[in-house]
Amino acid sequence: MARSGESSGSATSRPPHGLAATRLVCPWCGATRPPDLDPWCRQCRGSLSAEVDRPLDLPAVARSLWDYAPLLPAGPVSASLGEGATPILPLQNLYPGDEVYAKAEWMNPTGSFKDRGAAVAVSAAIALGAAGVVCASTGNNGAAVSAYAARAGLPCIVTLPVGTPPGKIVQARAHGAMVVEVPGTFSDAYQLAERIQQADSRWANLTSTYANPYMTAAHATITYEAWAALGGRVGTVIVPIGAGPMLVGILQGAERLLRAGKINCLPVPVGVQAAGCAPIARAFARRESEVTAWEGNCAGIAGSINDPLRGYPADGTRTLRAVQQARGIVHAVSDAEIVQAMRDLGRLEGVACEPTAAAPLAALRALDRTASLPRPVILIVSGHALKDPMSQPERLASTLTADPSADPRALIAAAKAHRQEGRPPRILS
Ligand SMILES: *Cc1c(COP(=O)(O)O)cnc(C)c1O
Ligand SMILES: [Zn+2]
Repeated sequence: MARSGESSGSATSRPPHGLAATRLVCPWCGATRPPDLDPWCRQCRGSLSAEVDRPLDLPAVARSLWDYAPLLPAGPVSASLGEGATPILPLQNLYPGDEVYAKAEWMNPTGSFKDRGAAVAVSAAIALGAAGVVCASTGNNGAAVSAYAARAGLPCIVTLPVGTPPGKIVQARAHGAMVVEVPGTFSDAYQLAERIQQADSRWANLTSTYANPYMTAAHATITYEAWAALGGRVGTVIVPIGAGPMLVGILQGAERLLRAGKINCLPVPVGVQAAGCAPIARAFARRESEVTAWEGNCAGIAGSINDPLRGYPADGTRTLRAVQQARGIVHAVSDAEIVQAMRDLGRLEGVACEPTAAAPLAALRALDRTASLPRPVILIVSGHALKDPMSQPERLASTLTADPSADPRALIAAAKAHRQEGRPPRILS
């Protein structure tokens, strides 16, 4: 990225933020313009990309996402809760001696990776004069955007499909957002958010599809962090995808590393969808170059990625093409595979996550049987278990009841058996 008009500058002289060096670029027709709040290309109505023309000057260790501020399309930091700089954890019991890591994105302030995009997009919205923010969400984006909007002092509307897990709704309410439940799927909530933004151009749309280019760009920081933590090596990165901006942002980060000579080849990107709502995986399997919307009801367990793309299938096409160009894979996993992966991450690694966030492990298990994915492998564990405890109802139902006078030796024996079997013990009398 040596195109910068500015001198590459030293750490002390560089500007504190990246909006001054940001351009909106249309990946569909190539049009460019300075940053603003209009989500779409004025030439072709396609989704946009936010590019920052600065040299890739990376800190050795980032303490937060904002250590990458000069590379982010954000104004001065208007809203931060300490997002980013999440640990990368070896899966030492599931993959002893192998290089498989969990990127601990559930450790972001509101419990999902969405905080990265929300922090950047709210700061950009403030710099661009926004009067309010609206977002459609499967739950986590609303929890994140509402937190950063509260921090920045902006009114916030969150639209969600009816049936969104209550924990995620409670977060958005706690952050003072106006929450609107929309009958139907995420795509219906998407449509309402877009109509709200169109009704007042000073409201920014922070829906975490490609409707907000600042959000997508924020996810490049996941790549920079993983690259630094693994000593400059990234083999495969496995990402749960709804429309896919997290994966595309991660790839944009990898492309910048490649252009700057910091890696020799791109990591293999693997997008993971849930079999019950898999428009992008379906197009990939059929070797198509365009994604069509999913017709089913998308009621599977991985709620955070249940996006049928109805009304905006081009978002899926953008993700599909990015993966195809990078010689990656899009794979669909079943609910049963997700549940097994979620159990094992919790039981064997101490990583309790929401179903969607376990989908990358499920995909790795399936793909390792047929392909050879280069190591190190990075699984993006994108959201916390507490986001959606009711997706593990058997866990709540099988809690043991015992009197204080219960036989302690029987309890110890039962605990050992429980660990071996991975099943809850029978109720002790
Ligand atoms: C939103 C979300 C995803 C999917 O990310 P996209 O960028 O929308 O494809 C994955 N996991 C979790 C936990 C999410 O909230
Ligand atoms: Zn265009």
